[in-house]
Amino acid sequence: MTRHTCMRCGAGLCGDEIALYKKLVFRGAEEYLCLDCLAADCSTTREKLETLIAYYHRTGICTLFAKWESEPPAGCR
Ligand SMILES: [Zn+2]
Repeated sequence: MTRHTCMRCGAGLCGDEIALYKKLVFRGAEEYLCLDCLAADCSTTREKLETLIAYYHRTGICTLFAKWESEPPAGCR
């Protein structure tokens, strides 16, 4: 699996960060931002983005996020 990094700060990215970037910014993106940089661009906080990721996983409404059947597995890092 290819190792993705944030195109701005170079931080390593987990699958959820990539999925959220695709969801919020551009579905066909091939370069991504980490949660911190994305939060800065969206005038929001990392915590809010993490909440959003958890929301998509719990509801299963977005195909970019695998549905969580119970509580979330261990985090990205
Ligand atoms: Zn970054």
